[in-house]
Amino acid sequence: MEGYNSVEKIFSKNAIKALKDSLNKSNENEIFWGCNLDESKQLIDSVETIFFGSNHSVLFDKKNAIKYDLVLHNHPNNIIEPSEEDQIIAHSCINMAVGFAIIDNELINCYVIVPPKSIVKRKKVKDLEVEKILKNPSQSLLDILPNYKIRESQIELSKLIQNIINDDKVGFIEAPTGIGKSLAYLIPSFLYIKKNNVKIIVSTYTKNLQNQLIKKDIPSVIKILNQNISVEVAYGRQNYLCLLSYSNFKENFNFLFYESIESEVMQQLEHWVKKTNNGLLLELNGNYEKRVIDEIRSNSNLCLSTKCKYFNECFYYNARRRLNNADIIVANHHLLLSYELNEDFSDFFPIYNTIIFDEGHNLPDVIESISTYTFSTFEIQKKLYKLVQISNKKKGLLQLLDDNLSKSNLQNSTAGKKILRLSEDIQKQIVELQQLVSNIQNLTTYEIMNIINSYKSENSKLKVLVNLTDLTKKNPEILKKIFDSLVETFDNIKLFTDSVSLLLGILEILLDKGEDSELELSFLQYLYGNIKSIVRFFLNINDFYHEFQKLLENSQKVEKYLKVLWFEINNNIIDFYFYNEEKGLTFNDIIQTKAKSSIFISATLATENSFNYIKEQLTLKEDIKKNSIDRIFPSIFPYEKNSSFFIIKGINPLDRSSYKNNISDIILQVLSYTKAKTMILTTAYSDINDISEAVKKNNKEIKLLVQNTNSINNSLLDEFKKDSKSVLLVNMGFWEGIDLIGKNLEILIISKLPFKVPDTPILKARTERMDNLGQNSFFKLSLPYAIIKLKQGFGRLIRSEDETGICILLDDRVISKNYGYLILDSLPKAKIEIIEKEQFLNKFIERCKELEI
Ligand code: SF4
Repeated sequence: MEGYNSVEKIFSKNAIKALKDSLNKSNENEIFWGCNLDESKQLIDSVETIFFGSNHSVLFDKKNAIKYDLVLHNHPNNIIEPSEEDQIIAHSCINMAVGFAIIDNELINCYVIVPPKSIVKRKKVKDLEVEKILKNPSQSLLDILPNYKIRESQIELSKLIQNIINDDKVGFIEAPTGIGKSLAYLIPSFLYIKKNNVKIIVSTYTKNLQNQLIKKDIPSVIKILNQNISVEVAYGRQNYLCLLSYSNFKENFNFLFYESIESEVMQQLEHWVKKTNNGLLLELNGNYEKRVIDEIRSNSNLCLSTKCKYFNECFYYNARRRLNNADIIVANHHLLLSYELNEDFSDFFPIYNTIIFDEGHNLPDVIESISTYTFSTFEIQKKLYKLVQISNKKKGLLQLLDDNLSKSNLQNSTAGKKILRLSEDIQKQIVELQQLVSNIQNLTTYEIMNIINSYKSENSKLKVLVNLTDLTKKNPEILKKIFDSLVETFDNIKLFTDSVSLLLGILEILLDKGEDSELELSFLQYLYGNIKSIVRFFLNINDFYHEFQKLLENSQKVEKYLKVLWFEINNNIIDFYFYNEEKGLTFNDIIQTKAKSSIFISATLATENSFNYIKEQLTLKEDIKKNSIDRIFPSIFPYEKNSSFFIIKGINPLDRSSYKNNISDIILQVLSYTKAKTMILTTAYSDINDISEAVKKNNKEIKLLVQNTNSINNSLLDEFKKDSKSVLLVNMGFWEGIDLIGKNLEILIISKLPFKVPDTPILKARTERMDNLGQNSFFKLSLPYAIIKLKQGFGRLIRSEDETGICILLDDRVISKNYGYLILDSLPKAKIEIIEKEQFLNKFIERCKELEI
């Protein structure tokens, strides 16, 4: 189909008729059509008009185009040579794996510039190929994995994944710990890549799994299959050093708007810049202040791309070139979706055939976070200071602009005068804004403090959350008062954004003039990039303001998708948040149009034997949900024999008065008896405080290692592994993603069922929407979340077939509430021991002995 063709040869009769009809309506104007091939993939059978344009131009919308096999465009002058614009479109089509062709208005000739990908018949991987590798392990496999055991379930899983890839399907798979899921998906992926020369993306959530894939699993499979597969790890743009920004920084750091930076620091940095091969800022290991790193990292607003003098040696673009050449790309969910869900950056990842979301249960949280825009009063001040400095010794960007202008002839030109006037106006606006932002940082009106007090979070007296969306119904008067206290600041931000945008427009014209602009080009580029990034920041604030106004008018009621606004006050700094559900819906495009096949896999993906919860959370379209291949593989560890799951009657976290004493009591009994490695998983800092207080008071010999951040603290984990007497007391961050193998963990205490805090603004809005629709939000939202989290937590205990362990749950709602059985049914089948508090210790000792713990 490539090159020149007669229209009759490659279009069906129906398609030609449809083309004629729309050409008749077009009045000799340009048109874009979206076309699809017939089943034989050799003939264009369906044609839909996507856009009508003028007689010389038409809009091209990538989002719409990606749905089709081929985008077709007409040239009314009947010359079907591609213009420069057509070549740009062709390039986009290549990136989207969509074909592109031009026809004349007489429907005689068609020039296929990019052939549709789907006409390339892909070869399938045969069952036997996968089976042979795993069932008859070669010597190289046994050399690489000396403990390899043939497992029917792993072979079955691998074949299932192979079929999903072969047949372009979507699959949801729960694969238990120990089944060897990485190997099971890597083998068919590698075989498919080799047969078809396509790319596969493996996306993970935790760094641990990503490291395991890169350092262990992928190199092992490469050796086992003896195949030449190239692998790249994807890092976001901001992880790379920008050589242009660095050269500007080097020139200006002394007199610009920085607090002094020691020359020794600059020398070290220079040394690193000269020797680094990949420019990855992660190599700097946190040895430099964030303000320094922020100035030298690659930034899409500042990037000049092909116009940059460093383009050929650019670390970021070189990394993109390597991604384009890779067979397998390893990414993390956050990075992948930040790019794929953002239309402006959706061509960051090259075309891929398959996407494998390992640890897929985390995707909804990632999508939620990407769909939430946030800014703080601190950031506003920082941006303003970047433009204007108050100190006499330092200068902001606008002050530098004034200086540079006054040294050039440009100051007398119309553009120069306009810039000076605008700069003066903006500087005045900034002074006013700085004052207003300081004022709102001290929200002191009586009414607002009242609200704030009623929203105070339980765990921190310093942190206050105000849910604006919630106030719409609960207290519109207070909402109005809060709005009134912010309105002047937001109005000023709006005016200020308009002025800075005007300035940006003039700078853009000067930049287009290049060397003729009379301002030093690299300064102009630096100034333009920085101001552009500031404008984007403030435009997002204006969006928040707009939504806030809609809340007041109650016009959000008619919105189809959830929008939630809130702010938090933390040590006098206000952080504003705006969640927009609509953004996450584009996830469907990845599954439906970008990837030919997608696999969601995790040890904890299903609840109540189904994937309904995860599918709902991903807001997948009905046809994807209905047509997916779903499979739950049973546990492979002998939980019944190797582990116990204690539930102690009468301990209920909702009974605050006795709960604290009860859990401390049981924990002290356990820790006083056993020397086995123990981890206590909690859901709140208050539990950590209560437990550590009780342990310190009653048994000074116990060494508690307490987590005080929300993420996994690797040094704490290392200390726990090394120190045989230590007990790990940790928060939500440790419920997943850690591997404490063998004797490193034998007793697991879970303080309570891990329900999500119901007051978080997004959950609250979702719950209300469900309740309004007559659905049971507890069973559809809160419970499945807790089940998945509990499965993750419990999954820390047994990491291999011959391990033993005891889990103690200090929350009897699993037996006292009607939903309890749904939780227990979802857990691996350990020996469940429901017991009175008084009898616990004896039974625990007995079971420890049986299990040789
Ligand atoms: S191409 Fe962009 S990222 Fe690379 S050095 Fe130039 S400005 Fe920086």
